[in-house]
Amino acid sequence: MLRHLLGASATADTMLEAIARDARETGDKTGRPVFSDAVMEAMRTVPRAAFVPEAEKAFAYENRPLAIGHGQTISQPFIVALMSELLDVEPGARILEVGTGCGYQTAVLCALGATVYSVEVVAPLATAAAARLAALGFVRATVRAGDGHAGWPEEAPFDGIIVTAAAPSVPAALADQLKPAGCLVIPVGRVAATQQLQRVRKLADGPSEAKSLLPVAFVPLTRGQS
Ligand code: SAH
Repeated sequence: MLRHLLGASATADTMLEAIARDARETGDKTGRPVFSDAVMEAMRTVPRAAFVPEAEKAFAYENRPLAIGHGQTISQPFIVALMSELLDVEPGARILEVGTGCGYQTAVLCALGATVYSVEVVAPLATAAAARLAALGFVRATVRAGDGHAGWPEEAPFDGIIVTAAAPSVPAALADQLKPAGCLVIPVGRVAATQQLQRVRKLADGPSEAKSLLPVAFVPLTRGQS
């Protein structure tokens, strides 16, 4: 009651409860009603408060997106957990992320034991995320500024690719940079009302198989200048 009156009701524990509840309620669509211990532990250990601006810190553990400046957002914790779950990250996996934003999803993937290459089109966000990840000790994250449509050919192929902004279709370069049997998680759709979170699995013999799992609302994947 007092906590409620003070407005400090959301904690890391209540965030985890909200994630578990959303996972249960969407499990028939996503096929993942219960997230792995590894994903829940990563969500517990990465301090979301360190990734949000000062003005948003009081809301850091609420299960919703928050503004991070430059017209961009930090994703909803449930969505970060779901996308991490759908990637089936093994320790040591090499993951490409398109859309670093503040670097929160990057940190969660690092906490799962991945080495993460992350591309962000808004240069000041890329610079700030790189500094933040280094300061927090996420040494297996490398961030660069650029247009993620091109992926990161020098570091390809990847075990998994995660796109955290919505595209009308899967960018061809990204599908090319995925290892056989690798998996790509991406919101597909032009406007928020029509986006579907898709999981695309590359088959061992080349082509891919895509599944639409859940309606979502992401910022658009823009065409960068770089
Ligand atoms: N992964 C973030 C979510 C960031 S929101 C998190 O953990 O919360 C999506 C991000 O994608 C924004 O920062 C936006 O600037 C970036 N983005 C949009 N289009 C892009 C592009 N073509 N290449 C790389 N990043 C892009």
